Amino acid sequence: MECKGIAAASGYGLGRAFLLEDQEVRVIRQTISSDAVDREIARLEEEIRQAIAELETVRDTARQKLGDDAAAIFSAHIMMLEDPEYLGGIIEKIKQAMINAEAAVEEVTAEFVAIFSGMDNEYMRERAADLKDVAGRLLRRLLGIKTMSLADIAEEVVLCAHDLTPSDTAQLDRDKVAGFVTNIGGRTSHSAIMARSMGIPAVVGLKDIVTKVKAGDFVIVDGNEGKVLVNPPEGIIQEYRAKKEKFAARQREFEKLLNEKSITSDGVQVELAANIGNPEDAKGAITNGAEGVGLYRTEFLYMGRAEFPSEEEQFKAYKEVAMLFGKERPVVIRTLDIGGDKELPYLEMPKEMNPFLGYRAIRLCLDRPEIFKTQLRAILRASAYGKVKMMYPMIATLQELRAANAILAEVKQELSKENISFNPQMEVGIMVEIPAVAALAHQFAKEVDFFSIGTNDLVQYTLAVDRMNEKISYLYQPLNPSVLSLIQNVISAAHNEKKWVGMCGEMAGDLTAIPILLGMGLDEFSMSASSILAARALIRQLSKADAVDIAQAALKMDDAEAIKAYVEQKVSFIAGLK
Ligand code: PEP
Ligand code: MG
Repeated sequence: MECKGIAAASGYGLGRAFLLEDQEVRVIRQTISSDAVDREIARLEEEIRQAIAELETVRDTARQKLGDDAAAIFSAHIMMLEDPEYLGGIIEKIKQAMINAEAAVEEVTAEFVAIFSGMDNEYMRERAADLKDVAGRLLRRLLGIKTMSLADIAEEVVLCAHDLTPSDTAQLDRDKVAGFVTNIGGRTSHSAIMARSMGIPAVVGLKDIVTKVKAGDFVIVDGNEGKVLVNPPEGIIQEYRAKKEKFAARQREFEKLLNEKSITSDGVQVELAANIGNPEDAKGAITNGAEGVGLYRTEFLYMGRAEFPSEEEQFKAYKEVAMLFGKERPVVIRTLDIGGDKELPYLEMPKEMNPFLGYRAIRLCLDRPEIFKTQLRAILRASAYGKVKMMYPMIATLQELRAANAILAEVKQELSKENISFNPQMEVGIMVEIPAVAALAHQFAKEVDFFSIGTNDLVQYTLAVDRMNEKISYLYQPLNPSVLSLIQNVISAAHNEKKWVGMCGEMAGDLTAIPILLGMGLDEFSMSASSILAARALIRQLSKADAVDIAQAALKMDDAEAIKAYVEQKVSFIAGLK
């Protein structure tokens, strides 16, 4: 069986399917005889011991991968399973009501959850969710349902899920996950972006893949063509093993360009930078030849944990990256961009009809200056250790930019008073993600040090197409002439004011888009680390003069597909690289 989805991260992954799904827990209440009571209690106690052992492993893995705060969540789960009131309540229920352990767990948990949920205290209400989670684990053990979690993956598998949240993706171990496939999502959903930076082949937006694949099926993920093959014949498997080998060989070929410049055949040099989410990614960026960081998505430091990261923790994470890249290579840190498809469990955000148009990013930061200031302090402090630059996400109006800058000025003053060092000249830019800013770029260009075009959002807002919705993915067209003309406007406006312009949306790493962007004069291309070397190979083949012609011709065309075909026909090198 072959299924068509959206190519989210290139490469080929082959392996057995591992289904990540919520297994339904159905408990049947059974009365037991008095001589079965002790046996039922013993069974309960044994499964609690096992569940605790399981949680200890999960906690240790979380500590290694995500740090102490994430581990604390699981320590709290263990404490719940050891809590004498909870446990005593279950044992009492088995004895008094003479029922099976599963039913007793379910009933006592429901009582505790009702108490927690009714409390005024937000913290206690959240504990209700934790308790449900813990009870679910215990029930699955009692019922003999095999629990599968990301931490349990032992062999190389293809992960199949309805959806993967960015924090699920952060837990993936690239040695064990050959690829992943999901029902929902688009090329610029954050799990897809992370898969690309981790170098895990992925196909998303397959609509119903989890119902088509059974655990243990042999699955091939073709992240180049956006295809998934389920239980293909041996001949096809061999064909894909060969493709995978060829892909790896080409990657090795690209590695020869690791220390080469990103320069066109007629001598125009641009910067190829990486998009990162944490200091670990920064190391991967360097091994992939990044000349800097064009986008540090700081929100990942805020995710997968129980509370906001402190100024000190953030400072450490920013400083580490600044120092890795040194005094010469820039690191552009983006202030918090939470909201949209990125949520924080500890930040109460009401469900919104249109989260991508809602309370997110700079809007939230201006509304919650205490959160914003902590981050600004940490970024400024890190600016003393490298070539740190900073940008605000989702700016829509000049007033927002000025309000953010006013808070920045306050924070600078505070730091000076406290004799804490920072770079007072740190460049401050904005992301151009909202068409309003692209249209008024000439005004914004006077008040920023640089622009970074965020096409992931710019495309979604320009064409009014939800970047997460696979049903309308045909409309998600970075090469649409409307988008190209906005980009050209932004670049020209910046250059008129002698400011530089980068792009950190996924389009910057798209081989077909690169000749056009180069021709339009883009100065910096920031992309998933795994795309950098292929982009460098392409740029070194192109001449700026040809790229200018290509851009001008593309800007006169009226259809994204035609533009794509035109560029690929002009630059045959692209087909060979795909
Ligand atoms: C963008 O919108 O292009 C961007 C880089 O930001 P994010 O993908 O994090 O929304
Ligand atoms: Mg964005």
